[in-house]
Amino acid sequence: MFNDKVLEEVKKKALEDHIPIIMDDTLEKIKEILNEEKPKRILEIGTAVGYSASQFAKFTDDDCIIDTIEIDEERAKEAQNNIKEIGIEDRIHIIVGNAVDILPTINEKYDVIFIDAAKGKYPIFLEYGIKLIKPGGLILADNILYKGYVMSDYNKHKQRTAVRHLREFIKEVTENEKLETEILEIGDGLSITRVN
Ligand code: SAH
Ligand code: MG
Repeated sequence: MFNDKVLEEVKKKALEDHIPIIMDDTLEKIKEILNEEKPKRILEIGTAVGYSASQFAKFTDDDCIIDTIEIDEERAKEAQNNIKEIGIEDRIHIIVGNAVDILPTINEKYDVIFIDAAKGKYPIFLEYGIKLIKPGGLILADNILYKGYVMSDYNKHKQRTAVRHLREFIKEVTENEKLETEILEIGDGLSITRVN
């Protein structure tokens, strides 16, 4: 049982609360990817209120399990309530904590990893992602172009650290010989990396 009506309400409330949930066109692309990959294990970094994780559950088979990490306890609580109301609490495992601390403790391999949390941590998330992905699996990263700042040669101080780390991430996924990457200018930028 999957309650689509509740999922729509979760989306509406998240937008009202200015929570940066995944954009519609990015989600549409990920839907296509999940349809083709048919993953059984997905790892998400950055749950927020569980919107994207719930959408992933909707786009995958009933035996696909999603682990998702969230640092903010309040958001994690709201996410837990949301997935319960949607009817998918047996498919989504929320782990509360800083992904930088959680990732090294995970003993699991994933078909798909979705990075959607602190931009300054993307290089670290990638490093752990490569360790936790199954051979041939996909690492997806959202907000990779950060409102165009990543492509711009002048950025305000406020964005500079995030931009530097996002560029570092892009350099690694495009230059590492084991990785095959496509960067799409949809939503806030989505990178799709096949790990060989
Ligand atoms: N994936 C969600 C949106 C995530 S927004 C969706 O599309 O519906 C990014 C989330 O990452 C925020 O809730 C923030 O609290 C969380 N976050 C930021 N840094 C983190 C970290 N180091 N570890 C875990 N979660 C983090
Ligand atoms: Mg995002």
